[in-house]
Amino acid sequence: MAFAKAHVVGAGLAGLNAASVLAKAGLAVSLSDSAVRAGGRCRSYFDPSLGLTIDNGNHLVLASNPAVKAFRKRIGAEEPLAGPRHATFPFADLATGERWQLRINDGALPWWVAVPSRRVPATTMLDYLPLGKLLLGKAGQTIGQVIAPKGPVWERMLAPVMLAVLNTDPAASSAVLAANVLKETLAKGGLASAPRIASPTLGAAFIDPAVAWLARHGCQLATGRRLKSIRIEDDRVAALIWADGEEIIAPDAAVVLAVPAWVAGDLLPGLQVPDEHRAIVNAHFAVAPPSGAPEMLGLLGSTSEWVFTHPDRISVTISAADRLVDTPREELARTIWEEVTRALGMEGMPLPFWQIVKEKRATFAATPEQDAKRPPQRTAYRNLFLAGDWVQTGLPATIEGALRSGDSAARMVLGQPLVYGRG
Ligand SMILES: Cc1cc2nc3c(=O)[nH]c(=O)nc-3n(C[C@H](O)[C@H](O)[C@H](O)COP(=O)(O)OP(=O)(O)OC[C@H]3O[C@@H](n4cnc5c(N)ncnc54)[C@H](O)[C@@H]3O)c2cc1C
Repeated sequence: MAFAKAHVVGAGLAGLNAASVLAKAGLAVSLSDSAVRAGGRCRSYFDPSLGLTIDNGNHLVLASNPAVKAFRKRIGAEEPLAGPRHATFPFADLATGERWQLRINDGALPWWVAVPSRRVPATTMLDYLPLGKLLLGKAGQTIGQVIAPKGPVWERMLAPVMLAVLNTDPAASSAVLAANVLKETLAKGGLASAPRIASPTLGAAFIDPAVAWLARHGCQLATGRRLKSIRIEDDRVAALIWADGEEIIAPDAAVVLAVPAWVAGDLLPGLQVPDEHRAIVNAHFAVAPPSGAPEMLGLLGSTSEWVFTHPDRISVTISAADRLVDTPREELARTIWEEVTRALGMEGMPLPFWQIVKEKRATFAATPEQDAKRPPQRTAYRNLFLAGDWVQTGLPATIEGALRSGDSAARMVLGQPLVYGRG
């Protein structure tokens, strides 16, 4: 049936994108979130102890991500994403002192593997054959079952990159999820794989323009509004029970549930959702980086994994960081800062004002078992659709995946063909 109204629950990227597609199509859209601000796991806020606006964590997208482009265009995001024009990834091994740059050539023919100065040190062209093999991974297989998780290309390129993309021990991660990302990026060449970084913040790049665009299109975000339960009658959602009261859902209204997996699982008993998650730890330091520092630097032989330099701060990401969640924050800050000073040539600089952000359930664990638990976006109820990085997008839990899910949920409501071909 054609819906005239939509209630979007959850104003993370999935909900914001669903709301924007629906509002653009002319539906009357309401958007609510239990938090004090939009953005969910991709948010920025003023941190008084640093005196700066920071992101909950560094977020990277890739130049080819189509849903990122479409979303930012729709909401009129003006701040360009930062990042090198070419797919250049500088690395430093703090254990050995070695430094190198992976420089993927722009086109799809991967001649960069033939050029020693563009590839991992002490590797040969043949060492890169597993990359092709990984594209053939099948459902149920882990990366470690498709390729041997050892050797310099694995240790110095594939493992760190896959850890960042999948936020899960790479060898135990789903080969299909890895292959789906590689097919859209590395297999298309450097122009598709170049890193893009929200600048100056995630809020400016993704969230604030979306909230403003929605308000201009008649959809005012209601924050601090928590959905407690859903009343089902026959084959449809009849009411949303908010913490502040009940809302009857009109016969011509659809509901897009764009909350995290664990919340959706509680709201819809019987819905199977991924139920294992992995943490991400971010450290933020209130200090300008030295001039010439790369926007992004991969670290090996250290606790720190990726260093991001913003004009007013340095931020470090550690993925699949469950082992660090109970480590005292000051100990983490000191360890990470010492590594940052070595990585960026700032040795001896005292610990600046710092903040540690631990996101315990940053993403679902990208294992084959958890991937198999991701539900489709259509539900048993004719006016209820699911969105979020945890539904069946074919991608790991990423900005691109969350946005695609929002787009697809909206198109299901509108009865339109899906742009991203799932559902
Ligand atoms: C530290 C960190 C680093 C990351 N790095 C990257 C990266 O580099 N690249 C990348 O692509 N991805 C990255 N991700 C993943 C990315 O942030 C997520 O995939 C994406 O933001 C998920 O969006 P979502 O809309 O699906 O879910 P969420 O952002 O979780 O949104 C769900 C929303 O629902 C709201 N909500 C919850 N319960 C209720 C309720 N009962 N009623 C109403 N509202 C409710 C929440 O407040 C939230 O706003 C990272 C994530 C984290 C945490």
